[in-house]
Amino acid sequence: MKKILVTGGAGFLGSHLCERLLNEGNEVICLDNYFTGSKRNIVHLMDNPYFELIRHDITAPFFIEVDEIFNLACPASPIHYQYNPIKTVKTSVMGAINMLGLAKRIRAKVLQSSTSEVYGDPNVHPQPESYWGNVNPIGIRSCYDEGKRCAETLFFDYHRQNNVRIKVARIFNTYGPHMHPHDGRVVSNFIVQALKGEDITIYGSGEQTRSFCYCDDLIDGLIRLMNTDDNIIGPINLGNPNEFTIKELAELVLDLTGSKSKIVYNPAAGDDPRQRQPIIDQAKEILHWQPTVQLKEGLQKTIQYFEEEIRRI
Ligand code: NAD
Ligand code: UDP
Repeated sequence: MKKILVTGGAGFLGSHLCERLLNEGNEVICLDNYFTGSKRNIVHLMDNPYFELIRHDITAPFFIEVDEIFNLACPASPIHYQYNPIKTVKTSVMGAINMLGLAKRIRAKVLQSSTSEVYGDPNVHPQPESYWGNVNPIGIRSCYDEGKRCAETLFFDYHRQNNVRIKVARIFNTYGPHMHPHDGRVVSNFIVQALKGEDITIYGSGEQTRSFCYCDDLIDGLIRLMNTDDNIIGPINLGNPNEFTIKELAELVLDLTGSKSKIVYNPAAGDDPRQRQPIIDQAKEILHWQPTVQLKEGLQKTIQYFEEEIRRI
C-alpha cells in the first residue's frame, strides 16, 4: 500500500484521482483550501479509513511522510484564476517550491499537473512537447500560464540540482462530472446553459478550437505517468487529439440535451488561444496510453451528472 498526497484533491480532477487511487488500494491524503474545490466532490470517500482530508493552503509549507505527491492544487478556469491573479501565481510557484522541497526531503516522487497553456496561443499546430510556446507574459491569462511555466522550470531545476524524482504532465482541456456548475469553463457552461434553457454564450466567433479529453482517460494517463521509471520525467502531453471548434461543441451540446437554447455571440475573451490540439505520440509510446472516450460519449455522461446536480440545487 502506497501513501499518496493529492494537492487540490477536492477539485474536479483531484477528486477523481483520489477515488481511483483509493480503489487501487492506496492510502490517500487529500489536501485542499476549497477555493474552487468542494467537499461534495469527495464526500463519498470520507467513510474509507484509508482516506484523509486536510484543509491547507499550498502556498504555506506542509510536512508529511508519503511515497508520492500529485500536485494539482491551482484554479484552472479563467474566471477563477483571474479573480485573484497574484494568488494564482503564488499557488503555482510557491506551491511548487513547497511540494518540491517536501519531495526532496522525503525522497518522494512528485508529479506536476502542468497545462497546454504553457504553449499560449500556439503558432505551431498541433502542439508537440518540444514547442516552447507563444505566451503573453503580461496579459490577463499570464498569472496562470506563466505561473505554470515557472512551476515546470522549478520541477526541472529541483531534478537537475537535487535529483528530485519528478514527472510533468501537460494536460489539455479536460471535462466531466465534478466540474463546478459555475466554474466558467466551456463544457460546464454550455451544458448548464442548455439544461436551464438559457442562452449558450460563445465568446468571439466560435471558430477557435479545443481538443476535449474525458476525465477518466486523463486520470488513467496521470497514474501511468506516475508509475513510470525515474528516468521518465516528461513533459508529456495528455489530452484527446480530436479537435473541435467551440461552435461545433455548442451545437453538439444542444443536440445531446435536446435543448431549445439559443446560441449568442459575446465579445472574445482576452488573449484567448485560437487553436489547441495535442500531439500524444510520447504518451502512446512511453505510457501506452491514449484516450478511449470520445466527445459524444463523454458529454452524455457529463450531461447526466449536471442534470442530477441541477435537480439537487
Ligand atoms: P479545479 O479548480 O476543479 O481544482 C483545483 C483544486 O485546487 C480545487 O479543489 C481548489 O480548491 C484547489 N486549490 C486551489 N488553490 C489552492 C491552494 N492555494 N492551496 C490548496 N488548494 C488549492 O481544477 P481542475 O480542472 O481539477 O484542475 C486540477 C489541476 O489540473 C490544476 O493544477 C490545473 O491547472 C490542471 N489542469 C487542468 C486542466 C483541465 O482541463 N481540467 C487542464 C490543464 C491543467
Ligand atoms: N468559451 C465560450 N463560452 C463560454 C466559456 C468559454 O465560448 O461560456 C470559449 C473560450 O473563450 C475559449 C474556449 O471556450 O475559447 C475554452 O474555454 P475554457 O475556459 O473552457 O478553457 P481554456 O480557454 O482555458 O482552454
